[in-house]
Amino acid sequence: MKSSLIIGSGIAGIASALRLKKAGYAVKIFEAANHPGGKLHAFHLGNFRFDMGPSLFTMPHLVDELFQLFNKNPSDYFVYTKKETLCNYFWEDGTRFSMPSGQGQFLQKASKQFDVEEKQLKKYLIRNKEKYDLTADLFLSKSLHTWKTYFSFKTVSSLVQAYKLHLNDTLNGVNKKYFNNRHLIQLFNRYATYNGSSPYKTPGIMSMIPHLEMFYGTYLPKGGMHQITKSLYKLALEQNIEFHFNESVDEIVIDGNYAKGIKTAKGLYTADIVVSNTDIFTAYSKLIKSDRKPKRILNQERSSSAVIFYWGVDKLFPELDLHNILFSDDYEEEFNSIFDKKTLHNDPTVYINITSKEVKSDAPNGCENWFIMVNAPGNFGQDWDTLIKELKQNVIHKINRVLNCKIENHIIEEEVLDPRKIELKTGSHLGSLYGTSSNSKFSAFLRHSNFSPDYKNLFFCGGSVHPGGGIPLCLLSAKIATDSIIAHD
Ligand code: FAD
Repeated sequence: MKSSLIIGSGIAGIASALRLKKAGYAVKIFEAANHPGGKLHAFHLGNFRFDMGPSLFTMPHLVDELFQLFNKNPSDYFVYTKKETLCNYFWEDGTRFSMPSGQGQFLQKASKQFDVEEKQLKKYLIRNKEKYDLTADLFLSKSLHTWKTYFSFKTVSSLVQAYKLHLNDTLNGVNKKYFNNRHLIQLFNRYATYNGSSPYKTPGIMSMIPHLEMFYGTYLPKGGMHQITKSLYKLALEQNIEFHFNESVDEIVIDGNYAKGIKTAKGLYTADIVVSNTDIFTAYSKLIKSDRKPKRILNQERSSSAVIFYWGVDKLFPELDLHNILFSDDYEEEFNSIFDKKTLHNDPTVYINITSKEVKSDAPNGCENWFIMVNAPGNFGQDWDTLIKELKQNVIHKINRVLNCKIENHIIEEEVLDPRKIELKTGSHLGSLYGTSSNSKFSAFLRHSNFSPDYKNLFFCGGSVHPGGGIPLCLLSAKIATDSIIAHD
């Protein structure tokens, strides 16, 4: 039996482990933390439960697929429900919009709310779908780093129609071409944050993200986001995948053009292949002790990070749903602050996620568990303690203004996560949430491949390599990496 070693048990590490097991490999996963899941983790604060990182879940079939690989019924492990409301949006001028998931309903409601013709909205959504249909096969399911990919009819056809992708315009530029209403433009601009980018820099092709959200829908696993990790971990144990927790990998041991194995404090482990699920920057800067480093890739701009306040709140807010956004009045300045000034804007967009709306046991009776996230620059050594103190006041003032309450009187539990801690806890370079940013039209091509160009049996998966960050793309990275391994056999 061939053997494999995986560094890191993030979602892509676990998915790669399962796929390799299915392909007949013996699999050992080495994890620096004492738990699986990486960013997809959870914790308790008093009587409240919180998901630590991801809160938005799309394309659940990519998780189901992993159970089906082993002829298991996914719902015996993992149950989720579709959300009818995608997000509740709030603006400072009192405008509110509860965005329905169904396209027909959205068209009707948005047309009235934002004073735009349904026909125009539909035109935009159709173009977004077209962008997705043209590129999904090329960007999401294949390696962009093998010549074979470019020889398929579909790829050539996508490249010929590249003019339809709005690569030379920004997302904001495209949205402004379609719409005049500033609230609607802001709503569609927000999709840039789904991969940690700025709508004023990321190319117009990103308008395919609202199509994805509307077409596939958004979901919440029964029991919260952490169930994704817990259910896949259970499956992995049943398949005799071996987990080594609290065992950080210090080195990928290289022998000529091969990765011979890995080194931890407990010794050397050798195997036929090594898969790294660590951040690619960390892999090259700490684990591969060689001068052969892809400097251009490692110097690329990173996605945004975040500051998260986890609040146990002793009041119910019926106007809020699972996903809620309180928009900044100056969105452009907010992104300038994050990406150019590397600081926090004083009127931040505030995202409030409340799983207790759906998972009643996540908060005591009459209470809610608020996960409040504000997009932030990476960790460049800013004075975070001062920034977070100011941010907390700005967030409280914003919530009080928009929801007409005195939230500070209702916070009974608090924990804070910031870019420093994200970097420390998950090894994410600068604390980025989604690996490299998508602020350039070339970013898809600039992400590191899922295989090493230098060492024949070394592979990469996870949010910092192709095709990018976020749970669905990480799951796809595991598939592309294992497809490369099988092709290499
Ligand atoms: P990671 O989760 O990054 O895990 C890597 C693992 O490797 C960690 O467990 C780490 O301990 C381990 N490791 C690192 N170095 C070593 C070493 N040397 N030896 C051993 N182990 C090591 N995505 C969404 O889809 N929806 C969202 O709503 C969303 N929101 C987010 C909010 C926050 C606050 C954060 C932080 C992320 C969010 N994301 C979201 C992004 C998503 O969480 C990530 O893209 C995804 O979970 C990354 O998975 P990964 O497989 O790359 O591994």
